[in-house]
Amino acid sequence: MKKYATVDPTNGNVVQEFDSMTDAEVAASLTRSHAAYRSWHTKDLAERCALLQRIADLHRQHAIDLAKLMTLEMGKPITQAKAEVELSAAIYEYYATSGQQLLADEELDIAGAGRAIVRTAPIGPLLGVMPWNFPYYQMARFVAPNLLLGNTILLKHASNCPQQALRIAEIIHAAGAPEGVYQNLFATSGQVADIIASPKLQGVSLTGSERAGSAIGALAGQYLKKCVLELGGSDPFLVLPAADIDKAASAAAAGRFGNAGQACTSPKRLIIDSSNWDKFLEAFLAKAAEWQTGDPMSEDTRLGPMSTAQARAELAEQVDDAVSKGATVHLGGAVPEGRGAYYPATVLSGVTPDMRAYREELFGPVAILYRVDSVDEAITLANDSPYGLGSAVFTDDQKQAAYVTDRLEVGMVGINTTIKSAPDLPFGGVKASGIGRELGKFGLNEFANKKLIRII
Ligand code: NDP
Repeated sequence: MKKYATVDPTNGNVVQEFDSMTDAEVAASLTRSHAAYRSWHTKDLAERCALLQRIADLHRQHAIDLAKLMTLEMGKPITQAKAEVELSAAIYEYYATSGQQLLADEELDIAGAGRAIVRTAPIGPLLGVMPWNFPYYQMARFVAPNLLLGNTILLKHASNCPQQALRIAEIIHAAGAPEGVYQNLFATSGQVADIIASPKLQGVSLTGSERAGSAIGALAGQYLKKCVLELGGSDPFLVLPAADIDKAASAAAAGRFGNAGQACTSPKRLIIDSSNWDKFLEAFLAKAAEWQTGDPMSEDTRLGPMSTAQARAELAEQVDDAVSKGATVHLGGAVPEGRGAYYPATVLSGVTPDMRAYREELFGPVAILYRVDSVDEAITLANDSPYGLGSAVFTDDQKQAAYVTDRLEVGMVGINTTIKSAPDLPFGGVKASGIGRELGKFGLNEFANKKLIRII
């Protein structure tokens, strides 16, 4: 099979394959991106905003087809796929409508004579390396702010969603992006390295695994390129003594099993105060049981297949390792018979540090419950992870919520909610979860030249 291919995860059938680009084609794309930057970044800002609005409109106009393509290529249930298309449209629209305000000059209050102004300017051609788990949304949060700024974009999407990559490129061109401003690349890892090495490129953004992040980050360091890395997470979800248990159980199940658990900010570790253990376990198991696997094209299905058979095999190994070392399975926990990369909603407890599941990210529909006897023990356990992306704290005690918030080593904290991405809110983590922020004004500033203008 070719590297870029659509493989239906409900049955493993290869639907369509695509040729990778030659080195000469990749080099020509970079040259075009470099040339296009000259005119794109000096265009009137209103024109760049108008392009983004048309991209948003086209996402909405083609929402059903876009959603079906996602369901075909990575198995997301169709209702969740439609919601992702709408979120992506909202991101393009946010930057279209807020662009003038976000890019307004900032006048500094200075002691010396004259004026000092900081202008948010672009830096040049950028490369995006994107994953398959939220194929349109992950692109949108990189593409929208950077087209607004005036940067040009080369995009290498995950090899298992080539049709989606091509479809978004078509939409951006149909919306009126000038030649070379946005280009899709069916590139290899070696070609990605060549692009990063080129003096024509000014920055690279990757969303994906730690392994990929570390490879791209090393190249960015070597060639002195700005980089943003959005990597994995193993988000803690704390259920403290004063929590509303029904609310917490519903939020935990929706967060853990949506997108078949293949989300970086999914609550992967549920940390329950012992005073709530029995009640929470019962409520959570009842909610988890509602997540039955089915045909992802059906409007009634909540849990589709995982993205690939390989991803499922990796998850099954992590679960089997935990069970063989003494973890308790409350629900699911076994690969079902039949075709397709399905894995059932699974709930484990009794996971200990000698098990892979304690430290590794479980990128599938598996929740781990931990029982603790104090708020400080909950915090210590929450922070005992290589990751530091999102988190959730369920309690009606505001003082306790504030105490915990200040002590969690994470980029995002939800009080009585899981972290849900929104166009105007910053998104990102600390520790092995990555470097930098996306979305809102924070994402816009990552690949910006904050140019000082001093006037005497
Ligand atoms: P990867 O990190 O391998 O893939 C993400 C993107 O990076 C893809 O476009 C991939 O391309 C590309 N890539 C990977 N390695 C390199 C490299 N050396 N040079 C250039 N590009 C590279 O994710 P996987 O799909 O393999 O998933 C593995 C695990 O990663 C998951 O189980 C999960 O833990 C984590 N992950 C986390 C995500 C998140 O949202 N935080 C998203 C996706 C994965 P290609 O497809 O061609 O290999």
